[in-house]
Amino acid sequence: MKISNVTAIPLSYRLPEGKTVTMGVGSTLKRDAIIIRVETSDGIVGYGESHPGRSAGAIVSLIENTLKPLILGMQATDVIGAWQRIHRMQFSSHGLGAGAALAYSGIDMALWDIRGKAANMPLYELLGGSSKRIPAYAGGIALGYQPKESLAEEAQSYVDQGYRAVKLRIGDTTQNDIARCLHVRKVLGDDIDILTDANTAYTIAQVRRVLPALADIKAGWLEEPFACNDFASYREAAKITPLVPIAAGENHFMRFEFAQMLEAGAVQVWQPDLSKTGGITEAIRIADLGSAFRIPIHAHSSATGLNHAATLHYLAAIENAGYFEACVSHFNPFRDMFGATFSIGKDGCVEPPKGPGLGVEVDEAIFKEYPVVDGPGYIVKF
Ligand SMILES: [Mg+2]
Repeated sequence: MKISNVTAIPLSYRLPEGKTVTMGVGSTLKRDAIIIRVETSDGIVGYGESHPGRSAGAIVSLIENTLKPLILGMQATDVIGAWQRIHRMQFSSHGLGAGAALAYSGIDMALWDIRGKAANMPLYELLGGSSKRIPAYAGGIALGYQPKESLAEEAQSYVDQGYRAVKLRIGDTTQNDIARCLHVRKVLGDDIDILTDANTAYTIAQVRRVLPALADIKAGWLEEPFACNDFASYREAAKITPLVPIAAGENHFMRFEFAQMLEAGAVQVWQPDLSKTGGITEAIRIADLGSAFRIPIHAHSSATGLNHAATLHYLAAIENAGYFEACVSHFNPFRDMFGATFSIGKDGCVEPPKGPGLGVEVDEAIFKEYPVVDGPGYIVKF
């Protein structure tokens, strides 16, 4: 079963008026996603998702013109061999670093979908896991900057659906952030896990002001206070209090950067994204690396049901699995365009799909409803 074709399909949608969410990276205008389609000589087709990295066209070009020729004709089941070839030819020298990781992630995901379909097994089973209840938090592009009263109402609406954990967007002024967090804790009570995400918008001085308040409300973590490569600030932040773990990983690529986080002793919660970090193959290695240090994996999940499904299979098959990030965005047609891939239970948990491979039935006819839109996905007022 040889890899006979690789196609990258960029998709976009615009946020309708009044549906934008504001957070540390700006206000959302539109969202992009790249669906990867891998064909085999046996006729099995696998699908994956690559994160667009704010430039869908660049990632599509990298896949079509550079990565595809490297793996055409290889055994479709040889996920390690394909990964090694891409790493040797596109990362090690003159490559595009993070861009190549984004681009290859969707191909690797599609190869795992093919393996599962060929073996007639759901991916969690193929990976050595089992169907199990996985705790989920209300995340995705939601719970953004807004008056504390409406934020608490929004958070409560997710708790009413079954979620036992919610993630608030911080990285606004520290005064606003603290007021919102205190109010949401008061409204939700003590039994709900409150997580926080600054989307890289803080300075170390702001983190010194905010962390004691996050400790007071028993926040589950502070996510991405700084830019992904600012290890010095991460190291400083980790010394402020042992009560609130620092989380990061959605913008860290491959096990090598997670090893750097480990060496910096700076990040206690890891959040690899399967559509960004180098695919399922690499995310398994990252989980294994973290497991030796008892680091939990609360995977970040991106736009479409393909990544959501892959993440659920992954969390059902690694030893140090934490939360599934459930996209609760009020407007995300990508989430459900192949049908719902998860549903929240009264216990606050979700389960991986049961079908072979990723367990997602892809209807390609739907792609024409989301033609790619050039331009930025977020606007920021500096
Ligand atoms: Mg985040």
